[in-house]
Amino acid sequence: MISPPQIIEVAIPLYLDRTFHYLVPAPLQGQALPGRRALVPFGRRKVTGYILETTPESSIENLKEIIAVLDSEPLWTAGELEFFRWTAAYYLHPLGEVLRTALPAGINVRSAKDAAGEAGPLTGGKSVRREKYYLPGPTSEPARQPGARAQEILTFIHETGESQASLLRKRFGNCSPQLKRLTELGLLTMQEREVYRDPFKDSVFERDQARLLHSHQKAALDAITACTDRRQFNAFLLYGVTGSGKTEVYLQAIAHVLQLGLNALVLVPEIALTPQLTGRFQARFGGAGLAILHSGLSDGERYDEWRRIRRGLARIVIGARSAVFAPLERIGIIIVDEEHESSFKQSDGLRYNARDLSLVRGRMEQAAVVLGSATPLVTSIHAASQGRLTLLELPERVENRPLPVVERVAMKGIKETVSPPLARMLNETLEQKQQAIVFLNRRGFATFLVCSACGQPLSCPNCSVTLTYHRQRGQSICHYCDYAVPAPGTCPACDGTELTELGAGTEKLEHDLKELLPQARLLRMDSDTTSGKGSHERLLSKMSDGSADILIGTQMIAKGHDFPGVTLVGVINAEAGLGMPDFRAAERTFQLLSQVIGRAGRGELPGRVLVQAYDTGHYAILSAAGHDAAGFYRQELEFRQEAGYPPFSFLAAVGISGMAEQLVSEQAEQSARLLIKLKQQIGARVEVLGPAQSPIYRLRSRYRRQILLKAVTRGDLHRLILAWRQHSRPPTTVRIAVDIDPLDLL
Ligand code: ADP
Ligand code: ZN
Repeated sequence: MISPPQIIEVAIPLYLDRTFHYLVPAPLQGQALPGRRALVPFGRRKVTGYILETTPESSIENLKEIIAVLDSEPLWTAGELEFFRWTAAYYLHPLGEVLRTALPAGINVRSAKDAAGEAGPLTGGKSVRREKYYLPGPTSEPARQPGARAQEILTFIHETGESQASLLRKRFGNCSPQLKRLTELGLLTMQEREVYRDPFKDSVFERDQARLLHSHQKAALDAITACTDRRQFNAFLLYGVTGSGKTEVYLQAIAHVLQLGLNALVLVPEIALTPQLTGRFQARFGGAGLAILHSGLSDGERYDEWRRIRRGLARIVIGARSAVFAPLERIGIIIVDEEHESSFKQSDGLRYNARDLSLVRGRMEQAAVVLGSATPLVTSIHAASQGRLTLLELPERVENRPLPVVERVAMKGIKETVSPPLARMLNETLEQKQQAIVFLNRRGFATFLVCSACGQPLSCPNCSVTLTYHRQRGQSICHYCDYAVPAPGTCPACDGTELTELGAGTEKLEHDLKELLPQARLLRMDSDTTSGKGSHERLLSKMSDGSADILIGTQMIAKGHDFPGVTLVGVINAEAGLGMPDFRAAERTFQLLSQVIGRAGRGELPGRVLVQAYDTGHYAILSAAGHDAAGFYRQELEFRQEAGYPPFSFLAAVGISGMAEQLVSEQAEQSARLLIKLKQQIGARVEVLGPAQSPIYRLRSRYRRQILLKAVTRGDLHRLILAWRQHSRPPTTVRIAVDIDPLDLL
């Protein structure tokens, strides 16, 4: 009897707004099940597809057959697929691309050649690490006697019962020939076993215990656990100043959820994934049930963690934005720490925001979602005021440690990078054997070099930005495309040799502080000094163990780290971010300044802060310095309402870019005209702004224009973009990307 041909629906990771049907040849039937990947013919290529469903029939004729099934177990659950589908629909992104983004890089097969060697991730593909083990037997009376060294190894294995090849090599040096010989003689058996790479293998941690909660913490915890106990979705905004004990609330809420037999997902900004934070989770819960996903992991390590989670071996997953797709089941709670961080948004490909998606996943899982921050998003504060988020406040620091006293220094007429009052305070701090942080959110030595002869700044030939002068490296570097030229060098415009440094970066700040305070032990932390593996931690530990006096750094130092010894914080050029052509400039400045200010006085001793700016009167600076968050949010929401920005509208950005300037400009105009025509046709209330040149008009040699779409409802926005997509046929040399809820408008 011939069974009817099986048809499957497959998503393909290409920019196509649809899925495809394939036939399953008889030998593969029973294997080609939903949740697995299949190698499929596509045009003249072979690509990896994701099997979504089996379907009884297809309206398409002449279906092609799949070539191979790549997995022996499903990679995603039906619930996860529902989440992926939601994500694809919301971000107007192909489902296959969403799946590719959600699954760990290690498992994606691109060519047939790779597929041949791949048995599937859960049974062990090529990125699974295997280790050889040697055991005694099967025979004890060999045909011939092994040599003396082999005998020694054999005795050792008999004594230990079994041994890992790596251990044997450590003990006996290179002994592969002996092991091979012993195995041939039947005196040893070799087994290959799968091992997990252990990201914690080098760390030691002490166990700690739950703290007795203060009353605000207790109220917050009670609200969260009441929700998890009912297994009902609810979203909370845990709003607590730095050091108010938010992390302690997370830890105890997670402990509660684990007791219910449910699991916990914790999302943190990449930069906060330091040993300090993960150490606190290990100390509370031990390392065993914990999985950590951060960008420092190799593809193999990441894949191992992914498999541990998929197999149910991890109960708590901590990770940066992509962890929102972690294959964790039975989720009782999702925590998003530092919910205001823009790094939760991915800036290319699938432009998702993990903070927003956590709410979607939480709703599907009927979990509690806790968004925590000392400086929540303006939109979150608004959502809380409307009851869409449940506000939980921790208004005081633990043990009522006072907030630091903040002074402002107007820099008008002051030429030095470090103002005299800040120099004086740094000196005092050193004399008292205390520590200080000096913050400047710009790396490099000078901001840029200017030619004294022709007045031109040195700019990037590929991007419309100036090059940053790095003195130690002797280069002027583009921070967008990494273009670099020897510096100071000559002016490319007029060959002038006299180049003047303008503006200051952290490297210059370090240089100036060295001159000013020769006795001080300085540390600098920015992306130039933390590129090596583990360098981040080395710098931080020098600060915590007191072997450094002053930490200089960019926004990297503003977050998450607790240095109890720091009593002074200096902020250089506090208004640096305010000049950005972005409606969120004030919000970002307020958040960053509040975070930096919060670094002072986290220990026993009170802290003080000095904020340097040319214009100290801007409301973002005034409110941060005055610890007046409520005042800031009030003013900022007024501004947003007047200007019609989120939370009073929804945005989408259409980016048009390409190498040919004229073509990009034409396409942008054409897209805008089409959008305007369509919005009238379908009656969508959407404002079409632009096209305008992007603030960074040229980036990596591409010309960039954008159209901003503003709507009162998400529905109208989506309808319009979908309609436009159907009619838009850009040439292949122009890239058009849609960004829903864009955060970066540069
Ligand atoms: P946040 O996450 O809001 O910055 P943390 O949870 O890190 O705050 O708490 C700040 C410090 O206070 C930490 O050292 C923490 O161990 C301690 N802490 C938190 N809650 C309590 C408590 N209820 N009793 C005593 N110490 C606490
Ligand atoms: Zn560049």
